[in-house]
Amino acid sequence: MKMQMVDLKGQYLKIKPEVDAAIQGVIDSTAFIGGPAVKEFARQLGDYLGGCHVIPCANGTDALQIALMALDLRPGDEVIVPAFTYVASAEVIGLLGLTPVMVDVDPDTFNLDPATLAAALSPKTRAIIPVHLFGQSCDMEPVLDFARAHGLFVVEDNAQALGSDYRFSDGRKARTGTLGTIGCTSFFPSKNLGCYGDGGAIFTWDDALAERLRMIANHGQQVKYYHRVIGCNSRLDTLQAAILQVKLRHLDEYASARRAAAAFYTQRLKALDPEGRFFLTPVEDPRSTHVYHQYTLRVRGGKRDALKESLAAQGIPSMIYYPLPLQDQEAFKSITRAVGKLENARACAASVLSLPIHTEMTQEMQEEVVRAIAFYFGI
Ligand SMILES: *Cc1c(COP(=O)(O)O)cnc(C)c1O
Repeated sequence: MKMQMVDLKGQYLKIKPEVDAAIQGVIDSTAFIGGPAVKEFARQLGDYLGGCHVIPCANGTDALQIALMALDLRPGDEVIVPAFTYVASAEVIGLLGLTPVMVDVDPDTFNLDPATLAAALSPKTRAIIPVHLFGQSCDMEPVLDFARAHGLFVVEDNAQALGSDYRFSDGRKARTGTLGTIGCTSFFPSKNLGCYGDGGAIFTWDDALAERLRMIANHGQQVKYYHRVIGCNSRLDTLQAAILQVKLRHLDEYASARRAAAAFYTQRLKALDPEGRFFLTPVEDPRSTHVYHQYTLRVRGGKRDALKESLAAQGIPSMIYYPLPLQDQEAFKSITRAVGKLENARACAASVLSLPIHTEMTQEMQEEVVRAIAFYFGI
């Protein structure tokens, strides 16, 4: 069997009876759109997150778009976003005629660096989109303090970190996605809580905002055929909700499996290269639990692409998330306001390499990956 970045088949086989029964139940009921599983799943996920509202939608990108639509922003308003992230975090800003203001990231955690916010602020700034990249929380306390001081909304892109906690300086802990004004997530199959197609959800504590988000996701209507605002059609389908109900029960187990795999990689890789001369292993922010959506190395000395090629030749998959920072993307060049040189974002894009990590990873597989890395560097 060839190694894979994620093993969705192996994960499915372990919960096959539960998932198959859930799918059959939806087919038997033929409630394909808006069936009871959608509401039940939303409530269960809300409970998991500490009691907030959960508004299901069609995918993570829609979640971000609907979040921004609910905030009544005007064309030309500015939204701060890290330059090193998946395109969706910033794409929705451009789509709504808003201006993405790109800030740099912390090179250790890959997350938005709160120290950049002051320089990003202008009279047009309305919101910040911190992204919890690769599975750990952005340092949210200074982001939230800054937002409060300047009257900004905070829309968390939690597509990669569902299940992660953030610890405030007073010891209080809360789930990522529930810290800001609105949280967004994706149930894309390879995400930590993935369905078998597309899916997404939006979180908020605010009752009125929850109603508004729900209305926007449903053609701007609260009463059928009476449309109060321009909305969109963004639904989580019942089959996906039924599958997610099953998988949510395993989410913490999945996070533990990912954390264990990451700890094993780090132990083995640090033993290979104790001084970090060839590569740097992931840095865990003590304020966050890392749920390792990705296990991402920073490869030194411009050797990233050569290492990737060597791994491929040895039968080991690896991925570059993400090869080009957003400020250098053609689609963003004409609409972006860049804050500073964004050098960390560029350096991350040039050096990152994500190794296979998933819930079914065995230590034998990981030893194989580590051996292949050792072989390339001759260490
Ligand atoms: C996956 C992802 C999204 C988008 O989710 P989709 O469901 O694919 O639309 C947004 N932001 C980040 C950081 C992601 O990883």
